[in-house]
Amino acid sequence: MTGPGLVLVSHGDRGLVERPGGERLECLFRRSVGRPLCGDRVEIEQADGQSAVVTAILPRQNEFVRAGPRGRKQAIAANLDQVLIVVAPVPEPSRDLVERYLVAVHSLGIQPLIVLNKAECMDAAELAADSPLRRLDEYVELGYAVLATSCKTEPGIDVLPPALASQTSILVGQSGVGKSSLVNALLPDLDLQTGALSRVTGKGTHTTTTTVMYTLPCGGRLIDSPGVWEYGLWPMSPVELAAGFRDFTAFEGQCRFNDCQHTGEPGCAIRSAVETGDIRDWQYRSYLRLLKQAAAD
Ligand code: GDP
Ligand code: ZN
Repeated sequence: MTGPGLVLVSHGDRGLVERPGGERLECLFRRSVGRPLCGDRVEIEQADGQSAVVTAILPRQNEFVRAGPRGRKQAIAANLDQVLIVVAPVPEPSRDLVERYLVAVHSLGIQPLIVLNKAECMDAAELAADSPLRRLDEYVELGYAVLATSCKTEPGIDVLPPALASQTSILVGQSGVGKSSLVNALLPDLDLQTGALSRVTGKGTHTTTTTVMYTLPCGGRLIDSPGVWEYGLWPMSPVELAAGFRDFTAFEGQCRFNDCQHTGEPGCAIRSAVETGDIRDWQYRSYLRLLKQAAAD
């Protein structure tokens, strides 16, 4: 038998691959083929009575990376359509976290979806003066989708399945914002799926340390990757960084110098737009802070 497959879990020299009909096979990876990522589309081959093997990894639309220790890029999943950036009033997002995520998602060429979880706690929350949660309307004005959810009470999570249907999405967010609770709420058969995925590695608890792709009842796929992006952005150029700020796009290419970093150079269109109020001040200040960090790395 030979045919296409989708990698649900990749763990060392083996993984779980789903065939088009839904059948799931444990497959061995050959060193010569390279290491497939969760989300990879692959070709598999199985000779009678033998283990299935991955014979090719198809070209990737994108590679979802995190910045690992010392800022090194670490690929954790492939072929994503959407990133769910989960935020909550508790714990409050750390400074520039949302912008960091938005810049990274932009550089991958996919769509972000901001999910405000624990929405019912917003009224009582004591938000910092410059908290991104005070600016959710502005993110909407910037063109980002923002959805409010609660895993405990109203408004529930009903807004999510339509947004996730027929997409491959990955969840990111600070620890404690409710990512596991959302996965639980979205997947009524989570234990069953986890059990099936865990058998590949023989380690019952591996879903707490390994990236896995779940199948949503609404037809989409949801990738859960522990600890994703707790380290923030990888080092990137000022151009790549600026591209992630939507307010800046109207002024792209209008600075006097091609390599303008927008930090006070003469003839800087971005700086002028900040002064006239055409670029939000908080976006610009966040850009400057991230630029400084990118340079320091
Ligand atoms: P994770 O670290 O992002 O996976 O977060 P968890 O799912 O473990 O949730 C952290 C804590 O927040 C747990 O005590 C959850 O019960 C709680 N929690 C999750 N979602 C909500 C919510 O919508 N509202 C409230 N009040 N608490 C929630
Ligand atoms: Zn400039």
